[in-house]
Amino acid sequence: MNKNQAITIGGLRTTPGARRNVDLPIADLYTSTSLHMPLQVVCGRHAGPTAFVSAAVHGDEINGVEIVRRLLGIKALDKLRGNLLLVPVVNVHGFLDRSRYLPDRRDLNRSFPGSATGSIAARLAHTFTEEVAFRADFGIDLHTGALDRSNLPQVRVTRGDAEAERLAMAFGAPVVVGAADREGSLRSAAAEKGIPVLVYEAGEALRFDELSIRAGVRGILRVLRARGMLPGHKEKAINGSVMASATTWVRAPESGIVTQRGALGRRVKKGERLAVVTDPLGTREEAVLSPISGIIIGRYNLPLAHEGDALFHIARFDSVKVAEDVVEEFATTHDPALGRAVETELIGT
Ligand SMILES: [Zn+2]
Repeated sequence: MNKNQAITIGGLRTTPGARRNVDLPIADLYTSTSLHMPLQVVCGRHAGPTAFVSAAVHGDEINGVEIVRRLLGIKALDKLRGNLLLVPVVNVHGFLDRSRYLPDRRDLNRSFPGSATGSIAARLAHTFTEEVAFRADFGIDLHTGALDRSNLPQVRVTRGDAEAERLAMAFGAPVVVGAADREGSLRSAAAEKGIPVLVYEAGEALRFDELSIRAGVRGILRVLRARGMLPGHKEKAINGSVMASATTWVRAPESGIVTQRGALGRRVKKGERLAVVTDPLGTREEAVLSPISGIIIGRYNLPLAHEGDALFHIARFDSVKVAEDVVEEFATTHDPALGRAVETELIGT
């Protein structure tokens, strides 16, 4: 096996077999307090690919911050081949403000690859791409649903990118969604450089969701194994992923109070009732119907909606029965009530 070489990030050199915390300078606060993007470089003893794992590109999507923190404690990383760049908080300003956005109200995930002389969002994007993303062979970007929206754990990849799809299936989230690249997103900027990025979407903004966190840690380790960066590991419970053939949003037909809402992960038939929109006096009731047969992969959690608000995200599959079985097995495997013993076995700590 070939020996790895030292890697330099933020002007600091990390040698094979070592780990190093690096603070990348970003725009100071206007109190003249200096601000940094914290990251850890894990430089394996043996040569291999370089991967990045990033979280909180949207500053209020914090599940991934905890996923990275737990990943850092996993002993198996001592056997890493290649390099791992772990960035728990990319959008430091948004994380401080508990906001999706940056102080200039821009969305960082519409600002990639950025520029050294542009807005604060463009500069932050530029720092991240130059120091981290464009140094990697592939990456995993961790997100959640937006404020008051929950996502069933799912991996989104660039449609038609065979390597990205292979890694997405290895991750083991129940659902994989092939999506068109969105201009300015980290995934699309990296794809232009031939760097596949998996986007893991799980849970809700400003919350820690234990199932999503466990599945995220485990999924990242599975992808590292699939790329030969960690030694193989026999898993007793193999839960697969299914690729969605399409997804669709279901919106509130009118403004009102939303009751009897279907749960995340539930299988629904075309024409089946997803929820009921009513008013405070209960004088009218309108059913929200599913336009397709599929699985609920995203849900609005507030029981109050305006006409046109997106209430449910439904994924369609070639076989919705297979998808339902996969979602059920996934929920059982990662159930936080199963306790620490199972967790240890699954992630091989
Ligand atoms: Zn996001």
